[in-house]
Amino acid sequence: MTTTPAEFMGAAPAPMNGSSPWASRYAAELRQIVTGHAVRAPRNVQKHLGPSELGSVCDRQVAGKMAGLPTTNHVADPWPSIVGTAVHAWLAEAFEAENTRRGLLRFVTETRVVPHPNHSGTADLYDAGEQAVVDHKVLGETSMTKVRASGGPPRKYVVQLLLYGLGYRRLGLPVQRVALAAYPRTAATLDGLYVWERHYSTADDELLTEVFTQTEYRKQWADALLANAAALNDVPNSPDDSECYFCPFYRPQSARDQGPGCPGTVNPKGPGQ
Ligand code: SF4
Repeated sequence: MTTTPAEFMGAAPAPMNGSSPWASRYAAELRQIVTGHAVRAPRNVQKHLGPSELGSVCDRQVAGKMAGLPTTNHVADPWPSIVGTAVHAWLAEAFEAENTRRGLLRFVTETRVVPHPNHSGTADLYDAGEQAVVDHKVLGETSMTKVRASGGPPRKYVVQLLLYGLGYRRLGLPVQRVALAAYPRTAATLDGLYVWERHYSTADDELLTEVFTQTEYRKQWADALLANAAALNDVPNSPDDSECYFCPFYRPQSARDQGPGCPGTVNPKGPGQ
């Protein structure tokens, strides 16, 4: 019995990402265009790191970024960052429209601030009514849980906020508090919106002094990497699953093949060693 092409195609397993072979191929092409553009986004090629990157606990990650080393992490998908970028643009429009509706300049959106001569950045929101600097974060469930935990957000988020706060103070504007507004990325409603805040105190200046000192140390490693006087894995690291997964240098296989990238939390000697 001969099988017709239609019968053959009908018996084939359903394509994963489309209703037909054409649709599946087209889904793959759409994905390739989206991820290709994300990789080329300016935030991925900067070498003067901004406030969002200086507070990482990992010297190796920050030094590698400063040196502009190539990305070796092909585990992380750019979609969360694409969604975050799009939501930030929408929120900026929303708060500007609120100013227009009220006839009052309460919210200042997407403003360049310079907390340090070499490390400027764009702050999401300044609320003149509350004298507060606000950073929007669009978070998955795991990150949201960490922000809600009693210890508050991870150090890098706190440092980022404090740097924006310092930048605004350097513009001559009062900053009473910094706030992280966490929006649920995967939920169907805004019920999970959560705000964490910190009232400004002199302890914040001490933390930022520590960050600037740490940044100078990391710059020395970046110089060594650029001069080929050191390799990435010579730089001290602080592996942490949530940090490593999104790190551009994460490559678990490097624990075994000694190739490029950082093994992160993977033990080069194998489990239990
Ligand atoms: S993979 Fe982890 S330990 Fe390695 S550089 Fe990145 S954040 Fe640091």
